Amino acid sequence: MKNTIAGIHHITAIAGNAQRNYDFYTKVLGLRLVKRTVNFDDPGTYHFYYGNEKGAPGTILTFFPWEGIVGGRPGTGMATEIGYSVPKDSLEFWVQRLKQHNVQQSPLIQRFGETVLPFQDPDGLNIDLIVPQQPDTRQPWVTPGVNADAATKGFHSVTLTLKSIKPTAAILTDVFGYELKEQEGDRYRFVSAAAVSPSTASSSTASPSTASSATASSSSASSASAPASIVDLVEAPQGTRGLNGGGTNHHVAFRVPNEEIQMEFREKILSRGLHITPKINRDYFYSLYFREPGGVLFELATDNPGFTVDEPLNQLGTHLQLPEQYQSSREKIEKSLPALNV
Ligand code: ZN
Repeated sequence: MKNTIAGIHHITAIAGNAQRNYDFYTKVLGLRLVKRTVNFDDPGTYHFYYGNEKGAPGTILTFFPWEGIVGGRPGTGMATEIGYSVPKDSLEFWVQRLKQHNVQQSPLIQRFGETVLPFQDPDGLNIDLIVPQQPDTRQPWVTPGVNADAATKGFHSVTLTLKSIKPTAAILTDVFGYELKEQEGDRYRFVSAAAVSPSTASSSTASPSTASSATASSSSASSASAPASIVDLVEAPQGTRGLNGGGTNHHVAFRVPNEEIQMEFREKILSRGLHITPKINRDYFYSLYFREPGGVLFELATDNPGFTVDEPLNQLGTHLQLPEQYQSSREKIEKSLPALNV
C-alpha cells in the first residue's frame, strides 16, 4: 500500500525576544498560542506553538525564542518562506494592519495565479499571506483585532530554496507522494497527491508511483488548494547557503496519520541511504527527523495525540506545560525562563 504525506504538520523557526514573538503572532497576526512549553532538548528556552483553535496539523507555527540570538541568513538548504492562506478580499486589511504595526512588508505579487503579500516578522522571518485559488474551508481562530473575514486559515505552502531542486524533488515525489504541478521561473510547485483529489488519491493507492519525472505538467490546471499541501522549491544555483539564527526556519514537519505509517516512511528513508532518527516522543506528536539531500531538516510528525493531551481545549496555551522528565524541576525552570505577559 502506498502512503502519501497529506501536507505540512508544522514549521519551526527561531526567534529572539519571547515577548515580542508572542505579541506579534497572537496580537498582530491573530493566531492562538496553543501550547506554551520548553524546548525538550534545552528546557531553559521556551517552545511556543501557534495555530488555530485546536492547533490542527497544517496550522502550527512553532518558535524557539532565544533572547539575544544573532540573526540568521535565509539561503539555500533552508525553508525560506512560510505561506499562510487568507480569505479572498482580505489583503487590503492586512496591508493596512501590517502598516499600523510597522511591519516590514513588500508590494503584492502574483504567483501561480494567486495574490501574495510578503512581509517579515519582527525577527526578519519571511512570511507570505496568500489568497488561494480555491476557497480554504478551514475554520480560522478569530481575535478582537482579526475577524473571520481576514483571519489566517493555516498554512498554504512552504518554500524551500535549493542549489539544485532534483534531490529534494525526488524525496517529495518518490517518498512523500507529491506531484510537480506547475513551474514559474525558478519556482517549482509540488502538491501532495493526497490533496490533489482526495477521491482519486484513495482509489489510486494500488497504482505504482509515477511521479518521479521532474518535468512540469504542461497543463496549467488550477493548483490544488487543499490545506497546507503545497511545497514550492526555488532553484538558486548561485545562492548563498542559509545560516540558522534569529528569523530563520529550523525545520519543516510533514504529516503522518499515526505511528505505524510513520515507521513505514522511516523504512523508505533508510532504504534511500539517508540517516533518520528513531521515533521521539514530543508529547503532542511523535517525531522522526532527517536531513533531506538538499540540506533542509525535515521531520515526520504524527497527527496523534494533539495539543489537548495535557490541557483542555478552552485553556490551550494558558499555562506552562512541561514534559514528564522536567516536572520535578518546574520551579527552577519557571525561574530561568523570561517573564511573559499574556
Ligand atoms: Zn518539529
